[in-house]
Amino acid sequence: MSVDGTENRVVSGMRPTGALHLGHYHGVLTNWLRLQQEYECFFFIADWHALTSNYESPGELHTAVPQMVIDWLAVGIDPGSTRLFVQSRVPEHAELALLLGMMTPLSWLERVPSYKDMLEQPEGPALANYGFLGYPLLQTADIIIYKAKHVPIGEDQRAHVELARELVRRFNDLYGREPDFEEQARACVERLEQARLYMELRTAWQEQGKTDALQQAQLLVKAQRNISSTDRQRLLGYLQGNHRMLFPEPEALLTETPRIPGLDGRKMSKSYGNTILLRDTADAVQEKLCKMPTDPARVRRSDPGEPEKCPVWGLHKVYSDAEVRQWVQEGCRAASIGCLDCKRKVVDRVQETLTPIRQRRAELEEDVDVVWKILNEGAEAVREIASDTMQEVRRAMGLQY
Ligand code: SF4
Repeated sequence: MSVDGTENRVVSGMRPTGALHLGHYHGVLTNWLRLQQEYECFFFIADWHALTSNYESPGELHTAVPQMVIDWLAVGIDPGSTRLFVQSRVPEHAELALLLGMMTPLSWLERVPSYKDMLEQPEGPALANYGFLGYPLLQTADIIIYKAKHVPIGEDQRAHVELARELVRRFNDLYGREPDFEEQARACVERLEQARLYMELRTAWQEQGKTDALQQAQLLVKAQRNISSTDRQRLLGYLQGNHRMLFPEPEALLTETPRIPGLDGRKMSKSYGNTILLRDTADAVQEKLCKMPTDPARVRRSDPGEPEKCPVWGLHKVYSDAEVRQWVQEGCRAASIGCLDCKRKVVDRVQETLTPIRQRRAELEEDVDVVWKILNEGAEAVREIASDTMQEVRRAMGLQY
C-alpha cells in the first residue's frame, strides 16, 4: 500500500471507555457504515486516549477493547474492507506524537477548547495531567501517520483538526527543507509528462491565488505512479513553498451528528445514566423505555399533554415516521392516547434497530478469539504504513544514525 496514495483514506478512533449506546450508534457508527462504502477506512480503538481519564484502571481495557469491537462488528463494520486495530499495537503513533511534542509551542495546546473547558470546571480541573494536555498531539499522530486525507468529525471537534493542520505545516516547514530544494524540485518537474500543465497550474495558484488550480495540480502529482515518495513530496511542496510536503494537511469531513435524547430527555450519555445500550436485552430495552418520564401534566390518561415537554417525544423525532409523529402530537394534546401506547411505538422501532445487532453480538460473543484475530491482522497491516512513515520522518529529521 503506498504511503502517498491517501486521497481516499479516512482515519477515525473511539475511546473504549464504556458500553456503546444508541447515541454512539446514530452519532458515529451509522456514519462509519456509510464511510466504509466510499473510502479506505482505518478505525481504531483509542486505548491510549482512554488512559488520559482512566489511568487508574487500565486493567478494564482488556475487556472493554474486544467488547467495543464486537459492537462495531455487530452493527456492520466490515473487517474485510476496513482496517480495525488497537492504537497501542502500533507504537509508531507514540513515537510520532513525542516528536511532534518537541516542536509544539505549549500555548497551542493550552488554547484547545476542550483543555480550557476542563480547567474551568466548577469542581476544579479533573484531568490536569500531561496526557490530557498532549492529547491533540497523539490525535494528530493517529491521523498523519497514515497520511489520511479525511477525518470524520462533528462541528465541536473542528479545533482539533485545525491544530493538526497547523502542526503539519510547522513540521513540513521545519523538516521538509533541503539546501538545493529549488533545483531538485525543478528536476522533478522536468521528469513529469505533464510538466507544462504542472507549471501553468502552479503559476495560476501562486500568482492569482486560484485554489482550484492548486487542487488540480495536487491531484496531478498524486496520480503519478512511477515517482519516489520523496519526489512526490518535492512536487507537492514546490506548488506552495520552498520545502518538501512530508505530510499532507488532513481535512475535516464534517458530519451531522443527530442529538439522541436519553431516557430523561437530556443528551444520551453514560455520565447521565440515561442510555439504551447496544448490548441491552430486549426486556431491558422495553423496561427502560416504558419507565421513561413523560409530560408531568399527564397525571391521568384523560389529562392532555404537550409532546415538547416529554422526553419520549424526543425519541419519536428520531424513530417515528411523519404519520406516527402526527398521531402522537394530536393524541397527546387531545388525551386520546395513553402514554404507554405512545411509548410502545418507540419500543417497537428501537427493538427493530437493536434486534439484528443483538443477534450478531451473541454470535461474536461465542468466539472472542475471532475479534482479537481481526484486531491483530488490522494492526499488522497498518503498522507497515506507520513504519514507512516513521522511516521518512526519522530521515527528514536527521535521526537515522
Ligand atoms: S402521550 Fe406520548 S408524548 Fe404525550 S406525554 Fe405521553 S408519552 Fe409523552
